[in-house]
Amino acid sequence: MTDYFEVLERDGAARIAQLRLSDPVTTPAIVDDFVEDAGSLWPEERELPEGDESALTILPHRGLPAGTADEVKDSFAVDYPDVDYPSAAVVTPDTAADYGADAYVLSDAQGSIGHGSAFRDAIVETKETIPADSALYLSGVATPVNVATLVYAGVDLIDEHRAVVKGLEGKYLTSEGEHFLEDLEELPCACPVCQQPIGEFDRQDCADHNVHALRAELSRVRERIRAGRLRDYIEGQARHEQWCTAAFREFDQQWSYLEQRTPVLRRSELVSATEDTIRRVEIQRFADRVTSRYRNRFSNPLVLVPCSATKPYSESQSHGQFHEANGFRGHVVSMTSPIGVVPQELECTYPAQHYDSVVTGRWSEDEKQFVADVLQAYLERNEYPSVIAHVPGEGYRDICERVETALGLEFEYTVEGHPTDTDSLANLAGALEGELKYSKREREQNTVRAIADYQFGDGAGDALFEDISMQSRYPKLRVHDSEGDQLAAMVPQYGVLSFTLAGARQWVESDTPTKRVEIDAFVPHGDVLAPGIVDADEDIRVGDEVVIEGPKAFGVGRAEMSGPEMAESTRGVATSVRHVEEQ
Ligand SMILES: [Zn+2]
Repeated sequence: MTDYFEVLERDGAARIAQLRLSDPVTTPAIVDDFVEDAGSLWPEERELPEGDESALTILPHRGLPAGTADEVKDSFAVDYPDVDYPSAAVVTPDTAADYGADAYVLSDAQGSIGHGSAFRDAIVETKETIPADSALYLSGVATPVNVATLVYAGVDLIDEHRAVVKGLEGKYLTSEGEHFLEDLEELPCACPVCQQPIGEFDRQDCADHNVHALRAELSRVRERIRAGRLRDYIEGQARHEQWCTAAFREFDQQWSYLEQRTPVLRRSELVSATEDTIRRVEIQRFADRVTSRYRNRFSNPLVLVPCSATKPYSESQSHGQFHEANGFRGHVVSMTSPIGVVPQELECTYPAQHYDSVVTGRWSEDEKQFVADVLQAYLERNEYPSVIAHVPGEGYRDICERVETALGLEFEYTVEGHPTDTDSLANLAGALEGELKYSKREREQNTVRAIADYQFGDGAGDALFEDISMQSRYPKLRVHDSEGDQLAAMVPQYGVLSFTLAGARQWVESDTPTKRVEIDAFVPHGDVLAPGIVDADEDIRVGDEVVIEGPKAFGVGRAEMSGPEMAESTRGVATSVRHVEEQ
């Protein structure tokens, strides 16, 4: 249990936290100014350091090389004492455990730097055994070019050591790489050390500059975390060093580690600028939910249309024109890279309304295959009387043809030239001739049921909202039961539902799996803090709707931590509370 480390914001595995020394430190941080190393136990037995709140004290330790036999490790294992000042324990991925420290130092960190998969394994193994609310410190490895990747992976503390050593060796570091000082014709930096003629710039200056460059890059990274946009940055930044690119791709393969730490919704925009965007958690999660949870409830033909730059799509000019030709006769599903397919009911749902991609009109093979796979899975699950593909030639048509072949279906193509050409729109209207219109009521009810499926699981829409009436206008829909009691409201910014107490009770009583946070015997006023949590479902993610229940209270709110983090943490806000009542 920690008294000195509290996580405040999360962006995947990266986080902003506070190390509560007498002068509090915001992490991720460089530790050189506030760390005290009590030293190794190899040369001599050491007294337990006195320690105080002005520093993070590394408790006496005994490092062992990677691959040391278990019996040897056991016989030399250090018994970390409980101390009442900020402390750090030295561990390897094998010896990592909860020693009650506020931070953990990975002892053989240098060994995994430079190797994507070794780095991933070391971090994942260590992070899965140390408590969620403790800091991870990698010593002697950080440089301006790799620090973003270290933090993205879940590292909270670093030091200046490597940047200084490189500088004294005459290596000038920037956020895009390493240069030999003697090869530089000018100093590509505006830090104070670099404001002198290059002829007078010596190796000590080079070391000082390297530290400046490391600090500047770390500030950028912290700002990215606060904005919820570190991943967008990593996709570009990591490319400057091959092992960093390999490392973040290795983490993409380690689905559960990142998935558990990635929120289900956010305010910030998701920028898709590289091929790697397809593999990020938010994109894969949306595609998975659309093809395994969502179910089409309309009996009308499917109308496939291209996405628009304006979000939500229905507010764009092109979709306004499609809508006029469609006239509530076809179920509109947008095709898009990198999201896949977006049924009209989910156009506001994160990240469908929150992404921006670089549109060149050209599709890469990866993009085509991804969207084709999603469309195919979608059509395997959802049956339509017919499929109308109102899509332009390049890319879209190719994808549709792949899916037609794979499923033995025949689509009707309605675009000649551009989808918004008069002839194309007339073809679309013609293809829908004689089809019945769906009503506003059907459309609105199907929308909230579809969002419930997406948000809570396969079948949730029917289980939770069997007999309902709707109030207010799309997208600010409010769901009422047959007696007129409000159950839920649609939150337009994220395209998700938030429950009332009556809705939460219905959720608990239904067959749909409830995400439950169990609390002690108190009635929360405001947020529930981690110490008040007895237990929490493992599959809770940041941003999830949760039921909060204890001997004295029943409530509903939104998770601020993942379930495992709630269960392990002793500090910080675990969940917000929207409504609560005493029971
Ligand atoms: Zn400089």
